[in-house]
Amino acid sequence: MPNSFDIAVFQGDGIGPEIMAPTLAILSDLAVGGGYSLNFIDAPAGAAHYAQTGDSFPSASMEAARQADAILLSAMGLPDVRYPDGTEISPQIDLRKALTLFAGVRPVTVRPGQPTPLALRGGQSIDFVLIRESTEGLFYTQGRGEVEADEARETLRITRAISEPLFRFAFELAKSRKAAGRGPGKVTCVDKANVFRAFAFFREMFDAEAAKHPELSANHTYVDATALWMVEKPWEFDVMVTENMFGDILSDLGAGLMGGLGLAPSADIGHDHAVFQPCHGSAPDIAGQGVANPMAMILSAAMMLDWLGQRHDFAPMQADGDRLRAAVDAVVAEGAILTRDLGGQAGTAEVADAIRADLK
Ligand code: ATP
Repeated sequence: MPNSFDIAVFQGDGIGPEIMAPTLAILSDLAVGGGYSLNFIDAPAGAAHYAQTGDSFPSASMEAARQADAILLSAMGLPDVRYPDGTEISPQIDLRKALTLFAGVRPVTVRPGQPTPLALRGGQSIDFVLIRESTEGLFYTQGRGEVEADEARETLRITRAISEPLFRFAFELAKSRKAAGRGPGKVTCVDKANVFRAFAFFREMFDAEAAKHPELSANHTYVDATALWMVEKPWEFDVMVTENMFGDILSDLGAGLMGGLGLAPSADIGHDHAVFQPCHGSAPDIAGQGVANPMAMILSAAMMLDWLGQRHDFAPMQADGDRLRAAVDAVVAEGAILTRDLGGQAGTAEVADAIRADLK
């Protein structure tokens, strides 16, 4: 079948399997209706797998990820299962490195009915995308920093090989959002170019890409002011692109604007591969109770449909991504069937059923 896609599925730890199961069921329904097929390939990995087998990321699972058309990942890691050196088990970071997933895409959307700590006035809504470079920046020497008796050093690295495709990706995203009526077509480069030469270099490459898109607008902001504006006037952002550590921090601020992690999806995208996973972790405190919110996982699956549809020029998949997002929006707006993190009493299965019902 020409429109047949292999999806590597990392069920993960804690609530991971609980939110993955209904997501796969919804995707299967959509595929039947949309005339495409999704072949889910189970890829064991994570903390529970490490505890059982001594291997946190079997090479067969990495190979399945490499061979797949896309990768769905729920959540990995458990606080009390660690490597002997005390570090956490996080195959998602191994995937980011192994597959050079340089663009961490974090949509920040506040839907009608969604709790947010901001007091939005009538007509104001939040809908922007933060792109966090995910392979270099201040994470470049992660795990290799030099520590001496009285001094420690880490290196910030910005390269042309990563920054140019990163900015290309940001402008393409702004263009497709504009075409879909979701934004004005504006890209903001978030940096600290007033202090660090590496960020002046970052900005220079951003400006070169901006010059190729006269139909879009581009501006720069310093990261400190950006943190302020994300709280004061988040509706002014459309697509933001930034370095790894700045993006790490600002994406949690974005999740805060969204009233928590239960509705925060994400994608880690490279040239040939992409991982789609919720922003939250494995939530071991509520695992096994059937109360986890599956919406961030489901919204991540919607991003996967967008990406696959665009990449393979297959409109029905993109349409299904939109439908899935709209179904989640409808259930949130209705407010009757929500998990505890969103102020409701429903369980994972009930929320997933409500989304499925809306899709019918
Ligand atoms: P990590 O370091 O792995 O990203 P974390 O320390 O940020 O994880 P999470 O596992 O994301 O922690 O959990 C943070 C809090 O949010 C916990 O109280 C958890 O129960 C809650 N939480 C996270 N995800 C969900 C979800 N899908 N549904 C309901 N509550 C959630």
